[in-house]
Amino acid sequence: MSETENHKSGFVNIIGKPNVGKSTLMNQLVGEKLSIITSKAQTTRHRIMGILNGDDFQIIYSDTPGILKPMYELHKSMMHFVKISVEDADVLILIVEIFENIDTEILDPLMRKVQGKVILLLNKTDLVKDKKEIETKTEQWKAYHDFDAIIPISALKNDNIDLVFKTILGFLPVHPPFYPKDQLTDKAERFFASEIIREKIFMTFKQEVPYSTEVVISDFKEDEKIIRMRAEIYVERSSQKGIIIGKGGAALKKIGIEARKDLEAFFDKQVYLEQYVKVEKDWRRQKNKLSRFGY
Ligand code: GDP
Ligand code: MG
Repeated sequence: MSETENHKSGFVNIIGKPNVGKSTLMNQLVGEKLSIITSKAQTTRHRIMGILNGDDFQIIYSDTPGILKPMYELHKSMMHFVKISVEDADVLILIVEIFENIDTEILDPLMRKVQGKVILLLNKTDLVKDKKEIETKTEQWKAYHDFDAIIPISALKNDNIDLVFKTILGFLPVHPPFYPKDQLTDKAERFFASEIIREKIFMTFKQEVPYSTEVVISDFKEDEKIIRMRAEIYVERSSQKGIIIGKGGAALKKIGIEARKDLEAFFDKQVYLEQYVKVEKDWRRQKNKLSRFGY
């Protein structure tokens, strides 16, 4: 069989209360050793935490901030969000602390919505003194819901993480990669940024600006507090350049303001955005030279 026939790819949504160990788990699953991005990218539905590529798989990890709130705190809009994010996942990972009690008020409505596979991780086993407790807890959770897998782990000590990975892989559907494998490495942030700016351009102009507009993030520097980026907007004719800039720069300014708002939400950080509009006849033919990723 060819590689594509075997290729697996899917969305793995991690949910869990604050401090249960989601970030620690992510670091173990996607860590640098596996040479992949961890971006705080906010898509409409998920916050992408990391993408892990292998020869024959691509796992897209994301989380849904605020999903685990008691019913009375959830607004209607939030319920919708919870619904799609739980329904969308090919694999849902629910992570809890092993010594925690089962919070049925929060979990019942979620568990009813689940459509894909669900893996329950009982984290922080290293803190359990009596190892029999692990069995007892596992049984309690088993009785609560028919999970596809229950795995006691220590994210911190890297205990059983390999089993988590293998279990996820086993549950992933056969599917070609959702994101280009060669491009989405350290260039991921630029890619997401350019997509956001491009979206603002299309929303602002609709039909007037042709689909050939391209945005290149030619500079991207992340400090502790701020991300500074330089966006080059390529059009094919100078008339288009005039449209994008607008009277006295008004249109470009509007794009910048709207894009910056989304970029800041996306990266969870302050963003300084510089924009330049450039005419590049036949840029499409030169596309290989100026890829979207800034080179
Ligand atoms: P998040 O808020 O769910 O992302 O949780 P974090 O990954 O930031 O972890 C919260 C705290 O729990 C940190 O101090 C971690 O070091 C700690 N932690 C995470 N996993 C484990 C574990 O398996 N064992 C122990 N003892 N601590 C852990
Ligand atoms: Mg965290």
